[in-house]
Amino acid sequence: MLDEAVESASTRAVSTHRLPPPPSALRGRIVVAAVAVGAFAAAGAGQTLHALGSDSPSSADEVTPLANAADGAAAFGVGGSGPAAPQVLPVAKTVDTAAEAQKLVKSQQITENREAAEIEAKRPKYVRPAAGSFTSGYGGRWGEMHYGIDIAGPIGTPILAAADGVVVEAGPASGFGLWVKVEHDDGTTTVYGHMDTFSVRKGQRVMAGEQIARMGNRGFSTGPHLHFEVWNPAGMKINPLTWLNGKGVSV
Ligand SMILES: [Zn+2]
Repeated sequence: MLDEAVESASTRAVSTHRLPPPPSALRGRIVVAAVAVGAFAAAGAGQTLHALGSDSPSSADEVTPLANAADGAAAFGVGGSGPAAPQVLPVAKTVDTAAEAQKLVKSQQITENREAAEIEAKRPKYVRPAAGSFTSGYGGRWGEMHYGIDIAGPIGTPILAAADGVVVEAGPASGFGLWVKVEHDDGTTTVYGHMDTFSVRKGQRVMAGEQIARMGNRGFSTGPHLHFEVWNPAGMKINPLTWLNGKGVSV
């Protein structure tokens, strides 16, 4: 019993001995390297470094003579004609790895921002609100004013926000069955009617081309189509075809 205990203890001792060197050994090597680099930098800086490192103004005075500093610089091959002060720079460089890492992160952020800006610049800012056939324009129709355009297609055809904006209405509306209204950044509002379903809520920000609903046949409608209106910032219903064409979108 006792023998066994001793044996297991000695086994433990051996296995402990086989563990890799503790991290402190590694740290030791790094410290040695850092000290070596520091020493080299200090040597390069010559006596000027001592002058800067000292708290005593009198000792700084002692080392100021230019001839001394220039001699030290010449001995290390770093050029002796200029003032000695710039030679202190390498010391700062050896300690500031955190700043280097920050610079790297910053440059990655700049790259990402630039890529995002390129994608933003390339994406369309105005789109046709639905695929399908143009079946009715803006103007008088059957003795009434038609305040929008109609684009007909199968039920479920995606309906897209014509431009970036904020959803200001999404739900039932008299005559429209269901409607979605999107207010754009310039104060213009686009209105989408008769849809079968919608997939946005009031207050939601949408981008040009983002699907907001699906084509339907609700409200005063004689077949599945999108009724699309454009209200100018003053609230007047203007010709959507003219507005879309003016934004480079053909229907
Ligand atoms: Zn219509």
